[in-house]
Amino acid sequence: MPLIKSNVHTHTVFCDGADTPERMVLAAISAGMDTLGFSHHSYTPFDTSYCIRDYGAYRAEVERLKGAYAQKIALLLGVELDLFGQRPPECDFVIGSVHYLKEGEKNYPVDLSPAAFASAVGEAFCGDFYAAAERYFEQVAQLAAQVSPDVYGHFDLITRFNAGGAFFDEGAARYKRAALFAAQALPAGAVVEVNLGRLFKGEGDIYPSVWLLRELNELGCRFMLSSDAHTAAALGFAFDETCARLKKYGIRQLVRYKGGVLTDVEL
Ligand SMILES: [Zn+2]
Ligand SMILES: [Zn+2]
Repeated sequence: MPLIKSNVHTHTVFCDGADTPERMVLAAISAGMDTLGFSHHSYTPFDTSYCIRDYGAYRAEVERLKGAYAQKIALLLGVELDLFGQRPPECDFVIGSVHYLKEGEKNYPVDLSPAAFASAVGEAFCGDFYAAAERYFEQVAQLAAQVSPDVYGHFDLITRFNAGGAFFDEGAARYKRAALFAAQALPAGAVVEVNLGRLFKGEGDIYPSVWLLRELNELGCRFMLSSDAHTAAALGFAFDETCARLKKYGIRQLVRYKGGVLTDVEL
């Protein structure tokens, strides 16, 4: 049994996931979880690729599953609410995330592909990746006031394609200043994801980067493990190993949803 028996960052075929909600439920039960939260990408008017289209059908299916599997697992209906997304009428929890860089009237996706990222920074920021990072973290700092999330999603998604420093140097003073600006703008005790989505894909490490995780810890943030699962196989991937790593970084406690309630777990 894993130490952390909950994941609430879960995508399905109703947005950009590969598996149905029911397959995700069965996978979570097999992985030893007692709580699974669904967090579709909020409807975002300018999005053309991954946000929810048919919220009614999705909600009906999750409600059906809540009843059908009530004896085996607690299911939550949440949302991954983009800074520019529309809040659904009811949600058990909200993950607040930034996926786009806003420049003028245009919104450029951060995490579509390396080529799309490079061309967005070229067009909107004259190729200055640090300026793009500054915009990204300014927007992260707006999440608290605009979205008021329960959980802050992939805090440094701007590093999505930056493995090996492909686009910019995370150690650069200008980058660190931008990230710390957003970190310091978080409310006291904010819950920040330790997001395993990129690690699962074999395309890089956890979000946030370790140096930033340590800074967030110093600032008094709380942390929650998130699969950011787009497939059933991703659910719970590397949870125990990540707990062991976090302990080494000086993190003593995580939070997780147990049913609908945020609960502390000692590491
Ligand atoms: Zn996201
Ligand atoms: Zn997500």
